[in-house]
Amino acid sequence: MAVFVKGVIFDGVDTTQPDCWRLAAYEARGGYQALRSILQAQMPQEDVIAEVKNSGLRGRGGAGFPTGLKWSFMPRSFPGDKYVVCNTDEGEPGTFKDRDILRYNPHALIEGMIIAGYAMGTRVGYNYIHGEIFAEYELFEAALDEARAAGYLGENILGTGFSFDLFAHHGYGAYICGEETALLESLEGKKGQPRFKPPFPASFGLYGKPTTINNTESFASVPFIIRDGAQKFLEAGKPNNGGTKLFSVSGHVNRPGNYEVPLGTPFSALLEMAGGMKDGSRLKAVIPGGSSAPVLPGEVMMDLTMDYDSISKAGSMLGSGAVIVMNDQVCMVKALERLAYFYHEESCGQCTPCREGTGWLYRVIHRIENGQGRPEDLDLLSSVGNNMAGRTICALADAAVFPVRSFTKHFRDEFEYHIEHRKCLVEHKWC
Ligand code: SF4
Repeated sequence: MAVFVKGVIFDGVDTTQPDCWRLAAYEARGGYQALRSILQAQMPQEDVIAEVKNSGLRGRGGAGFPTGLKWSFMPRSFPGDKYVVCNTDEGEPGTFKDRDILRYNPHALIEGMIIAGYAMGTRVGYNYIHGEIFAEYELFEAALDEARAAGYLGENILGTGFSFDLFAHHGYGAYICGEETALLESLEGKKGQPRFKPPFPASFGLYGKPTTINNTESFASVPFIIRDGAQKFLEAGKPNNGGTKLFSVSGHVNRPGNYEVPLGTPFSALLEMAGGMKDGSRLKAVIPGGSSAPVLPGEVMMDLTMDYDSISKAGSMLGSGAVIVMNDQVCMVKALERLAYFYHEESCGQCTPCREGTGWLYRVIHRIENGQGRPEDLDLLSSVGNNMAGRTICALADAAVFPVRSFTKHFRDEFEYHIEHRKCLVEHKWC
């Protein structure tokens, strides 16, 4: 995928140039200036954290939690080891933005993590990379080598007395390892299953030590915030939704890809940037933030702006910014069946409501899709979902339930038609 429209992270990055990821290209764009300025001025840690807080940066992995606030939870005076960890385990269907940061601008992530390490008093960081992206993993390793050779990583960085090292870790591709505590378990060499919380990673994280975990895009935004100032970042977006955001636009558009645009950009403008609807087809529905975000009808989306607050008010989530566009040829029963299968496959199995419930949801939707649905099946889906959401160790069960609730709410007629007529309401070749 290519990055088509550029903002904070991709400003000045010519993604058509094979060497755009290299250190020399990054430095020519002003890279590592933010780190140099902090280290040379011996900027107090709390000032760095305050700058990130003031920028309005919210976690780009899905939850949208304020990044600076998260950094402030780290017990900086803790005398033992502490860690910063980057979550590049993007495995949510529709999400493909973080791999492009590794592919085209890995040093922005490395610089962001070093600054985070400085601000939180840590000496070691890890980047946990999704197991299914190989070329990007190797490229990130090569970028780490460049940074080390140039004195940006390791002991006594730039002769300032600050030491920090960073390592890449390749996962095995399990979706659940994108959940921060499952990621930590996996990083420790154990089975990637979520932990009970509390305690939260800020007090009991990697190897039981204080740990701060952020998404790739969040860390990669930090050099801009420090170099150009929190206010400039904030003003790039809208109040409470600072900065730009990478949106991975996929589905029935003419130009799928990653688009870095200001938070608050109208969805209609984003759709236009992506070349509009494929073959002039009609917009039917949009999943605005990755497959776990509730689906919204196309006409609702056309009136919304792409930011955390607007999408949330409309009943969905901005999530990871994976925008899945569906045209009027999509059978919503079939689409939901595919999503339900994904969550059933990816449940780690620790909690009974999730382990059993995801399978139950899938089987009921599967039989509706295959012309064997029963009149009571929609109530059954609702009842199973109510016994899953909010009753498990992690949010995967909720992620499985949200699509079921929203698909059956907004497109109920299609489900009822499938059950009553044992065939699809939409004329197409899939059902
Ligand atoms: Fe595992 Fe599902 Fe429980 Fe999460 S909710 S811990 S994925 S069984």
